Amino acid sequence: MTSAVVNPRTEGGPGRARVAARAVGVVKAYGSGETRVSALDGVSVDVERGVFTAIMGPSGSGKSTLMHCLAGLDTVTSGRIWVGETEITGLKDKRLTRLRRDKIGFIFQAFNLLPTLNALENITLPMDIAGRKPDPDWLERVISTVGLAERLKHRPNQLSGGQQQRVAVARALAARPEIIFGDEPTGNLDSRAGSEVLDFLRRSVDDLGQTIVMVTHDPVAASYADRIVFLADGHIVDEMRDPTADRVLDRMRNFDSASRGWGRTS
Ligand code: ADP
Repeated sequence: MTSAVVNPRTEGGPGRARVAARAVGVVKAYGSGETRVSALDGVSVDVERGVFTAIMGPSGSGKSTLMHCLAGLDTVTSGRIWVGETEITGLKDKRLTRLRRDKIGFIFQAFNLLPTLNALENITLPMDIAGRKPDPDWLERVISTVGLAERLKHRPNQLSGGQQQRVAVARALAARPEIIFGDEPTGNLDSRAGSEVLDFLRRSVDDLGQTIVMVTHDPVAASYADRIVFLADGHIVDEMRDPTADRVLDRMRNFDSASRGWGRTS
């Protein structure tokens, strides 16, 4: 399921089909002088294509910052980032906005569906706005994978929380983005609805070859991933392949979670 480990410290762009995004020596600092905080302090990582990666770490360790920098939602202080073959550090706003629209999908804790549109209209909305026609075969595959074919005409308020989030995932998948980033995508769901969504994310990697990066504090959610990258104090301190919830819990205990906290908020 996972590809071979690549050397994230190799300089230069990915240049290889198996890397969907790459960060090299990324520093993100807030403030200056005495109040300077290094949210990321020299992070190098390859996001492997067709792999489900989870980012974990104590609250304040830099998870959201790393996700935002990889997704081009935030600028870096130094270091370089690529999405696919394109270096995004230094891109002008307009090109960055276009790249985000064309290559990146997002899933947030809040589903952000439009209440007046039905499920299908919500799924195709970003492409409608961009003036792009969805590939009908792909859309059909996404819809059959999402398992909501019977409910495409339903409005969000006629769907359960888990179903709404699956619509949001299908919306992210519809444009075939290079990567989907999820920030605690199951954070607002009970455990049954959460596992529905995680199953779907898993299937979208296995059946559709999607690349997913998910920030989570939940060891059960992380156990759906192929690979977990652990952050602490703005550094990558460990990674785990083919995790189980028990192994993740053990790893979290080793971080002295009592003093640092693994809460979902930063
Ligand atoms: P996590 O997602 O792991 O909880 P964050 O990436 O949100 O961590 O934050 C990492 C560090 O950067 C924290 O110390 C946080 O306080 C700091 N930080 C994040 N965003 C800002 C900001 N806009 N201004 C100042 N400090 C920030």
